[in-house]
Amino acid sequence: MRRLRTQVVIVGAGPSGLLLSHLLGRRGIASIVVERRAREYVEQRVRAGLLEQSTVELLREAGVADRLDRGGLVHEGFELRFDGGQHRVPFTELTGWTTCMYGQQEVVKDLIRAREAAGGPMYFGVDDVAIFDMDTDSPRVTCTLEGEAAEIVGDFIAGCDGFHGVCRRSLPAGSFRAYEHVYPFAWLGILAAVAPSTEELIYGVHERGFALHSMRSPSISRLYLQVGPEEPLADWPDERIWAELRTRLAVDGREGLNEGPILSRGVTAMRSFVMEPMQYGRVFLAGDAAHIVPPSAAKGLNLAAADVRQLAAAFTAQYADGTRELLDRYSRDGLAAVWQGQEFSAVMTSLLHPFPTDGAYEARLRQARLRDLVTSRASATAFAESYVGLSRARLAATLATDPRLG
Ligand SMILES: Cc1cc2nc3c(=O)[nH]c(=O)nc-3n(C[C@H](O)[C@H](O)[C@H](O)COP(=O)(O)OP(=O)(O)OC[C@H]3O[C@@H](n4cnc5c(N)ncnc54)[C@H](O)[C@@H]3O)c2cc1C
Repeated sequence: MRRLRTQVVIVGAGPSGLLLSHLLGRRGIASIVVERRAREYVEQRVRAGLLEQSTVELLREAGVADRLDRGGLVHEGFELRFDGGQHRVPFTELTGWTTCMYGQQEVVKDLIRAREAAGGPMYFGVDDVAIFDMDTDSPRVTCTLEGEAAEIVGDFIAGCDGFHGVCRRSLPAGSFRAYEHVYPFAWLGILAAVAPSTEELIYGVHERGFALHSMRSPSISRLYLQVGPEEPLADWPDERIWAELRTRLAVDGREGLNEGPILSRGVTAMRSFVMEPMQYGRVFLAGDAAHIVPPSAAKGLNLAAADVRQLAAAFTAQYADGTRELLDRYSRDGLAAVWQGQEFSAVMTSLLHPFPTDGAYEARLRQARLRDLVTSRASATAFAESYVGLSRARLAATLATDPRLG
């Protein structure tokens, strides 16, 4: 059996695990990352693309934003289309904050390169990960590493292994409470080799279902359609996808969408999940391992980054002078932010999607909310503060001085 020792064992090389490992490395704290998938797979996995300003700033602080600063598309507003009309929500004018479009797989590539350059140990293609001795001073991970049975002992384990990972499922029964909501629809997402049709995101609310026009670069578009929860991809040939996007994103009956070869496609379930607390013994969970949101408000990666910022600061304090206070507060403070992200994701999901159970009454309510958003500066500002992540940042700052809000 191969035996390794480190300070923090990190399970999962998604954005959470890699960023945590990198931030810890910059503060002189050793970690080992173990990832089930191959490096090529995690570097190509197409997912998030909208980074809040605070996430961009964190990546800059971590020294991994050179490519992002060169290639990221900074946005100051988005377009909302409904009832055949188009309306701009100028969120930067309303809040002072911007967002940035930069693919999650690019963030992952930047982090892997930075870990490599720093000589941080990362293992890909690791099978059979299991965690033990979680409530002792020496929690350990066992796995099959490069074909050999291995044991990695740490002071802590960080479970950054996503919603389907092993860490949360390994915690003792009854050690956490789970909150879950499953939506009765899904998103069919495509990546297309075509220049975006507009510079900003377009959220299209249509009686046939929601559609989103997004982008990853000046030559790559990302588009989504609301579809049934069990929709087989085989039912969606290219022409049907483009026709549906054209219809749902039309303005006054006019269709205008750049179309090109579809590079990848997938169906994403719409689900919300939160575990409380995000910790057991010396195991701390971060990102999708502890909570997920439907992609409508683009909060998943940003909430993951916020967890990691806090967890890295807590480990730093622990190793600097033995202060456990931040580690003890990690779950409480993190969950306050997580629930704010959950709430806004739920608001945005119900604003944008016709539900299968909706009647004419619910459709009229949605229309009234949309009209309010594009005519009331107060409503638009409140919405924009959540959209760009400002309200969550404000809550986090307040929590530091008023723990009763946690
Ligand atoms: C279609 C789609 C669009 C999205 N759009 C946005 C967006 O615009 N903005 C946004 O903020 N968020 C978005 N999200 C959410 C975002 O992608 C996630 O929140 C983000 O990936 C979370 O990062 P993570 O590192 O916590 O988890 P993950 O990215 O899931 O990484 C977990 C890692 O752990 C590994 N792992 C799992 N099990 C094991 C195991 N047993 N052993 C070892 N390793 C394991 C996995 O292979 C994976 O590499 C979107 C998600 C989807 C699916």
